[in-house]
Amino acid sequence: MDSAVDVVVVGAGIAGLVTARELTRVGHDVVVLEARDRVGGRLLGATLAGGQSIEVGGQWVGPTQHHVLALIRELGLQTFPTHVEGRNIAELGGTRAEYTGRIPRFDPVTLADIAQTQWRLDRMAARIPLAEPWSAPGAERLDSQTFDTWLRRAARTPRARGFYRLLTEAVFSTGPEDLSALWAAFYIGSAGGFDAMIDTAGGAQQDRVVGGAQTIAIEMARRLGDRVVLDSPVTAVEWDAGSVRVRTGHHTVSARHVVIAVPPPLASRIRYSPGLPGDRDQLVQRLPMGRVIKVNVAYSEPFWRADGWSGQANSDTRALGTVFDNTPHSSEGGGPGVLVGFLEGRHADRCSRMMPADRRTQVLEDLAGYFGPRARDPVDYIERDWAEEEYSRGCYGAFAAPGTLTRFGPHLRRAVGPIHWAGTETATRWAGYMDGAVESGRRVAGEIGVPG
Ligand SMILES: Cc1cc2nc3c(=O)[nH]c(=O)nc-3n(C[C@H](O)[C@H](O)[C@H](O)COP(=O)(O)OP(=O)(O)OC[C@H]3O[C@@H](n4cnc5c(N)ncnc54)[C@H](O)[C@@H]3O)c2cc1C
Repeated sequence: MDSAVDVVVVGAGIAGLVTARELTRVGHDVVVLEARDRVGGRLLGATLAGGQSIEVGGQWVGPTQHHVLALIRELGLQTFPTHVEGRNIAELGGTRAEYTGRIPRFDPVTLADIAQTQWRLDRMAARIPLAEPWSAPGAERLDSQTFDTWLRRAARTPRARGFYRLLTEAVFSTGPEDLSALWAAFYIGSAGGFDAMIDTAGGAQQDRVVGGAQTIAIEMARRLGDRVVLDSPVTAVEWDAGSVRVRTGHHTVSARHVVIAVPPPLASRIRYSPGLPGDRDQLVQRLPMGRVIKVNVAYSEPFWRADGWSGQANSDTRALGTVFDNTPHSSEGGGPGVLVGFLEGRHADRCSRMMPADRRTQVLEDLAGYFGPRARDPVDYIERDWAEEEYSRGCYGAFAAPGTLTRFGPHLRRAVGPIHWAGTETATRWAGYMDGAVESGRRVAGEIGVPG
């Protein structure tokens, strides 16, 4: 079956749907081709046994994420705060600290080392021009080392190093030895600083979307109607200077532009004829996805609250390094308490190779280690290994290996003839987050402009 439109968008994640929404608004005839049988990509909801919705993909939004907050408002959706009341738990090198507020109470030497390292990180990140990190002062030097090399020079104590390893895994979903230090600096800069990225109140984990973040995608798709075509993995793009033919297994759509709004490794699984420039392909070869298994564990009630815990816990030794209270919004009828935990980076590698029952035991033992034996008796358990998803192949986002940005960075957003690039990895602010995905959709719609 053949058809023709002005613009084909590949991927009905938040980036592709925003692109389609913006282009439709200015009068373009658009079709969105989505590989899966659903919209949302890395945003996905699930239903607990009690009927409440829970997020198994992206979920939080923060106060400086203006693009996604504006979109949430436009769509008539609501947000609600992440539960933060109570004591947090932080474990570093086997020592446990319980604390309220932002700073775990470790010994003064560790705390001073953590603070000094953060100051250096923020100073480095603030110097990065977000639209072209490769032209930052000292870019070559930063891009020639891993973030681990940078951290080992900056942080002197084992606990401070453990702290930054833990947070690297929590933010980048891979270890600091995998990342370019320039990419880390760019990423922190794109979030507006380290605190904005890691904080709950005032930071990226502050709020959740009532009904779950996938509703953002579902609402946009509902408004786009039959312009969104599911079950349509794009396999090939044939192009010349002014036109494209986009092929799925069962149809071909001709257009003047195509917007590829899929994670970078998946963009290079599409066949382009003629082939893409070497620089573009080399770039994408160096942008792998992080790896996360996200686990929601439901209990008959949020027992940790009664014990004075917030539900927020971190550890540099446990597989489940990061945990939050993820209890559904009260409008869902109350009921269960939910803890959400993340197996990230190398922990995800190891745990993905376990039998499911063993992985579950590992997760519950880690939760019991944080919150006591009641954590061993959940009423529901929902996990998702994002590396196993054919059309994500990891999360939260892609990251750059050393040398990537300085050698090939300018090709991240540079259109190739009628082929345009969107997706959160192409954003200048909050790259890797929903907010970055929205920014990318708006940018690429502006690049295409109004119908000629
Ligand atoms: C477990 C997890 C937790 C996260 N937590 C947060 C969070 O709390 N806050 C936050 O802001 N962000 C979070 N993120 C990241 C956030 O989800 C992403 O940044 C955002 O959803 C990316 O949107 P996107 O449109 O750029 O890409 P995607 O959502 O990946 O969309 C790409 C779409 O393209 C489709 N596709 C792929 N290949 C093809 C093909 N060949 N043909 C057609 N379609 C194709 C995919 O099916 C998908 O629908 C999280 C992600 C995960 C997975």
